[in-house]
Amino acid sequence: MLNALTQAITLAVVPIVTVVTVNAAGGGWLVLPPSGWMLFPAFLLYAFTMDFFEYLFHRAQHRIPIMWAMHSLHHSDSAMNVSTTHRHHCVEFAIKSMIIYMVGGIIFKANSSIMGLYVLLNLFNFFAHMNLRVGFGRWWMVINSPQYHRIHHSSLREHWNRNFCGLFPIFDVIFHTFHRPNGVAPVTQDTRTPLGR
Ligand SMILES: [Zn+2]
Ligand SMILES: [Zn+2]
Repeated sequence: MLNALTQAITLAVVPIVTVVTVNAAGGGWLVLPPSGWMLFPAFLLYAFTMDFFEYLFHRAQHRIPIMWAMHSLHHSDSAMNVSTTHRHHCVEFAIKSMIIYMVGGIIFKANSSIMGLYVLLNLFNFFAHMNLRVGFGRWWMVINSPQYHRIHHSSLREHWNRNFCGLFPIFDVIFHTFHRPNGVAPVTQDTRTPLGR
């Protein structure tokens, strides 16, 4: 419970503090509008870019032994459900947020509207980890879903290193790391050891 609370606060605070600090230090190549009709496309640009960094970081977590040593905690849940969302090593979570948002702060001069909306959008992660048979059918590529993310946690070898995305499966499609859900609901728990791959 304490870990979940710490991570929830980290999720909200670290991105904002990191981006504001990097922006104050001179970062922010692209200035995003805080309101008006351009807010929506600007938010989409920010969300897709940040989710792409999430995707790359997640790939690294599965490839680099020391990163997998921490990330494997997230995959150790034998019954994936909403509580799995916060099953992360707290240090890993803080490091990830700092790296991703530091790069974000260098690229974007963000504002409270954009960052607040992105924090809210990331609450979608709770939904993606739920033990539900929801996969959005033919629209599976639009956004992550419980069925889609369940493949990522599957104990079946053919599902390993698939469906890395946080929000947008399009990155898995582009980099050929997707596995279409097709209604399957495999048993979860990835049993790889750090050096056993
Ligand atoms: Zn993973
Ligand atoms: Zn997960």
